[in-house]
Amino acid sequence: MSEFTDQDHWKALILYGLNQATYKIALGKTLLSLSDQGYTSVPWDVLSHEFLHQYLQRLASSEAMPQQSNPSRRTKMERIIAERQVDKLSLDQAVNEVGRTAFEDVINRFHNLGNDTSFQDKFYRTNFGRTLELTDELHAVAVSGRSELEEELNARWALLEGAFTMSHERHEHYELANDLRLTYLANGHKRKGLTSNIPFLQGYQGNTCFYCGEPMAPDDIHVDHVLPRQVVHHDEVWNLVLAHSLCNGLKSDRVVGEHFMHKLIARNENIMGSNHPWKARIASSLGGTPQARSRALMKHYDQVKLILRDNYWGGSAFYNPESDPFYTRLITVLNNGSRR
Ligand SMILES: [Zn+2]
Repeated sequence: MSEFTDQDHWKALILYGLNQATYKIALGKTLLSLSDQGYTSVPWDVLSHEFLHQYLQRLASSEAMPQQSNPSRRTKMERIIAERQVDKLSLDQAVNEVGRTAFEDVINRFHNLGNDTSFQDKFYRTNFGRTLELTDELHAVAVSGRSELEEELNARWALLEGAFTMSHERHEHYELANDLRLTYLANGHKRKGLTSNIPFLQGYQGNTCFYCGEPMAPDDIHVDHVLPRQVVHHDEVWNLVLAHSLCNGLKSDRVVGEHFMHKLIARNENIMGSNHPWKARIASSLGGTPQARSRALMKHYDQVKLILRDNYWGGSAFYNPESDPFYTRLITVLNNGSRR
């Protein structure tokens, strides 16, 4: 241990170890500030006031970020600050609340590094609920590396907030995606045999694969759900196209790029320009005008992207097998092979 300086120890405590919340960072800033102010024996209310001050500064702006990883909860400090901001707590009451409820974990664990407790009492000793006694080591560290340590604390605080924000967004995304999935499921229908649609779809698509644009042999025509059936749970004709079995299989249950949605919209408008009985069905599902249908279809597309998390076929929204020479050659070779 002796090859490490006090400053190294300080940095280890601040930078390493798991952080479920930002308390340790706020306490680090509090300690440096109290040392600056000349304290050695810090009364509990002074400690509480300074800790509150650190959070008030941090959370004052409208872009206040989450202070802990669990999205369904808020830290005690977040709750105290919120109540202070709407004047449900006076400053004195807030300070008192901090001193009473916020410190138990952070004051007792600040010196822990994983399971290692050998730094105990290094930067302060505590008479819990009464005073904090700052050590010479703390004063020395605070003086020697002040601006660097302050910067590190601020960077660490921002890093944690960023990580917590991402975990909250994932959570919100999950909830939203789950709601959408359930809506599709609730409105869904049992799977039907789809081969009966082939002659009709061929009439509007010709004999080429919707995805790669290459010709299809009569024994290799598959009906594909452009928006994956496992999400939309229906076999509505506005979402059905013909594709090679290979293209169908490679696409699988993934999202296709937006260019295919424009192609699908054009194909559907082709059907709408005819007198086919499916016309009324598409109008009732998507809308009575081309604009309404286009909007409705793109809305489904956006929802499916949200559910499948932009998991694109080919890895990107821009991937288009039709303009991929290798892909079309592959299809041609395989198709010729299958008709040997
Ligand atoms: Zn194909």
